[in-house]
Amino acid sequence: MNQDHARAGVSRRKLLAGTAAGIGATAVGLTLGTGSATASSLMNGLWANPAQGYFPNGGHYGAPRGSASHAGQDITGPTGTAIYAARGGTVQATGSNLITGRTGTGIILRHANNTYTYYGHLSRVRVSRGDRVETGNWIGDMGATGNVTGPHLHFEIHTGSLGSTTNPVPYMRNRGVDLGGGWLTLDPGASGSSVRVVQRLLNSRGGDLQVDGDFGSVTTQAVRSHQNGADLVVDGQVGPKTWPTLIRTVDSNSPVGHGVRSAQEALNRRGDGLRVDGDFGSVTRSAVETFQRVNQLVVDGECGPITWRADVLITHRRHWGLGPEHPGVRPAAFPCRPDPRSTRSALSSAGSARARPRTPRGRCPWGRRPWSRPRRRSRRAA
Ligand SMILES: [Zn+2]
Repeated sequence: MNQDHARAGVSRRKLLAGTAAGIGATAVGLTLGTGSATASSLMNGLWANPAQGYFPNGGHYGAPRGSASHAGQDITGPTGTAIYAARGGTVQATGSNLITGRTGTGIILRHANNTYTYYGHLSRVRVSRGDRVETGNWIGDMGATGNVTGPHLHFEIHTGSLGSTTNPVPYMRNRGVDLGGGWLTLDPGASGSSVRVVQRLLNSRGGDLQVDGDFGSVTTQAVRSHQNGADLVVDGQVGPKTWPTLIRTVDSNSPVGHGVRSAQEALNRRGDGLRVDGDFGSVTRSAVETFQRVNQLVVDGECGPITWRADVLITHRRHWGLGPEHPGVRPAAFPCRPDPRSTRSALSSAGSARARPRTPRGRCPWGRRPWSRPRRRSRRAA
């Protein structure tokens, strides 16, 4: 079975705002989607940002960790920030020290084509081994478990086999997700929950699309028509220019309709299990408030541009401290530390490794392009 096209999902049991319930062990059956991504495009809706936050100094892929090198990308934020599945798949494992060299509480998700994602240093795990999750589902909470200097998500991508890591930043960018900050990009041919959101938004603007999550010719034509009307480049791609012209601000005072349905559809990507009825009632409001709280936004229950942006982005590190969405939060350096075990073994074999990484201080954490730096591939540690 090709998981690219699987509509895996966690239970649609309502995960009410702020409840202690995890996404839970209730796996549901798969239904095969009809959408298929073209080989020419990886902007296919199958990937999502795992967390909102910023890149700390020293937390980049390939950064030195003693004699090892950092196997993932760190994304920093307060403890409790929601962690989302970067892609649909199956929960391979949860618990402590899941992979050699990685410390603290983590989750491994298994995806199609022997691809894996790893989420480290969590304060809380909201899924269980064997659960099926959909792209964007809420799987855990950011924390500081293991050998760290502060709360952050340590995020890894393994391709081909578990243990074969790759730099998550370019990998995700090639799949329409700007891990460093930017709107999700979807191309014609994409499929999945993000496409359903686009279809709902187009319907809120006069469209009459079937909401099937398939970015086929009819949806493409509707996007092009919208772009034409909005004076955008007419290319059928839903990206940074098109999203802001599509989203709808809705709240408890909004009339029943497609605008509210689009917000409900977006929230359901997180596993909220809302009925998409277009009625912004107390349950929807509660889901919006939870989303805002666990993503460090102002909690006002209104699904406005910033909440929408967060939902599509799940990161806006460039805006830390610049607006009411980020009261008093200051960037700081919270990289992973090397695992003492791997450092010891590296010391015994190599003889001259530093026990602690030297973290550059006083630099703007988002002013660099860490993926262009030379990387060391010898050993990996978190
Ligand atoms: Zn890390």
